[in-house]
Amino acid sequence: MSQIEILDSVKAYLQREHGQFIAGEASRASDTAKIDLIDPATEQPLAQVASASTAELDAAVASAKRAFKGEWAQKTPYERGQLINRFADLIEANGEELAQLETLCSGKSIHLSRMLEVQQSAQSLRYYAGWATKISGETLTPSFPSMQGERYSAMTRREPVGVVAGIIPWNFSVMIANWKIGAALATGCTIVLKPSEFTPLTLLRLAELAIEAGIPAGVINVLNGEGAIGQQLIEHPDVAKVSFTGSVPTGMKVGQTAMAANLTRCTLELGGKNAAALLADADIDRAVGGLLQTGYVHQGQVCAAPERVFVHRSRIDELTSKLAAGLSQAKIGSPLDESVMFGPISNKPQFDKVCHYLEQAKRESRIVCGGNALDRAGYFVEPTIVQASSASETLMREETFGPVISFMPYDDESELLGLINDSPFGLSASVWTNDLSKAMRMIPEIEAGTVWVNMHTFVDPSVPFGGLKSSGLGREFGSAFIEDYTELKSVMLCY
Ligand code: NDP
Repeated sequence: MSQIEILDSVKAYLQREHGQFIAGEASRASDTAKIDLIDPATEQPLAQVASASTAELDAAVASAKRAFKGEWAQKTPYERGQLINRFADLIEANGEELAQLETLCSGKSIHLSRMLEVQQSAQSLRYYAGWATKISGETLTPSFPSMQGERYSAMTRREPVGVVAGIIPWNFSVMIANWKIGAALATGCTIVLKPSEFTPLTLLRLAELAIEAGIPAGVINVLNGEGAIGQQLIEHPDVAKVSFTGSVPTGMKVGQTAMAANLTRCTLELGGKNAAALLADADIDRAVGGLLQTGYVHQGQVCAAPERVFVHRSRIDELTSKLAAGLSQAKIGSPLDESVMFGPISNKPQFDKVCHYLEQAKRESRIVCGGNALDRAGYFVEPTIVQASSASETLMREETFGPVISFMPYDDESELLGLINDSPFGLSASVWTNDLSKAMRMIPEIEAGTVWVNMHTFVDPSVPFGGLKSSGLGREFGSAFIEDYTELKSVMLCY
């Protein structure tokens, strides 16, 4: 047992009265609903956060708009980059506090909170900081003939769109929020974040750190509350862009709300039912390691995680038995225990959903290992391997967002592309083979925003990430974000 000590600063932070962060200051309406934050590992209350009032919502958007037109607009790209870097430094300097808070609210293992929520957040921010000085337009020569000897010249400018509404899910709240903060700040936008009601505390702390870093008040605001607050935020006439990450049903509603509000531009990073395909020659030990790392990490609550695995019939028993042996070694317990690999599911609704899918799997498929909730306090379920015999089984079709992978044998590689693409989702996929030529021929045929070869769920800020089909619209990372956070303005000159 190596349970870590909770920092005094974390204990003190939990005791505070939490609400919103608007115009550089904490704000807390006295007459709105309070949301209880529950530790998913113990089911004990952690803290409360007050939902935003309509007046607070208006104040947050107004402060973001003021900063956008005012102090933030006066900063040069170089200064914006410097401030984003300073913010990243402070996230690292306060990393243990952020990691502990996030682990307490989300049940994520403390290792993951330190590595992904803190370190990778800081690294992503630095990536975006580098872009601040590299956003440019084009110079163009108009092609129509001149009428009276006059000449023309033209250029395009990339101008920040304005106030961004960043709507964040609970699974990686710090990291995903920082992707949106980095993109908004690098392009010169300001942002109002709406965290998930389950994980609001770290984003409130981030907003304080932004002020400490010297980012002007109003550039980053945080509004808390249930989905309705997100919806009101999207409907606000001064919101110029929505950057949403979450489930497909909510994403569809968000897209419709944004269109109806003001034709508000919208990017949607949504769920998946991601396929991994193991060809007959695949290195099984490597695949087992890869599935352990990516399919079960954070109890499977990762949007790009493999949830359907197609394995050549000649290798499926070897794969599932080695994977089951690997899972049996992994310790389940408190996410604050450094020797633990599996913590709880992040919240009660998600726990109920995963339990429902486990029951469904018992009825329709074969459970190879796991399959049950643990009889203890907290939202714990066993990491589970399901063997499906048909692609029409529920666990081969619906996103479980839990530590449950369904494996299905296939006989003929010509069936594989049909099986991989037989899904309304298209977020990610992976191909596992030693035959690079086969993989390269499959890649263009796979309907997914990202295809990995001999790995899965490796997300890097230099590589665009997003979904096809119902998994989303638009991309984060690479240079792709620039189009979504800036308006292309054309300027024409006559001389
Ligand atoms: P939800 O769609 O339930 O919620 C996402 C966010 O939207 C939350 O902040 C939620 O608030 C808010 N929200 C809910 N209703 C509305 C509304 N009508 N208008 C505006 N905002 C609203 O997703 P989860 O939080 O459950 O996250 C899990 C899902 O996110 C999975 O499907 C996963 O695949 C997907 N995801 C996708 C990623 C990607 O990059 N493609 C990355 C990570 C997750 P509240 O929580 O208070 O209801």
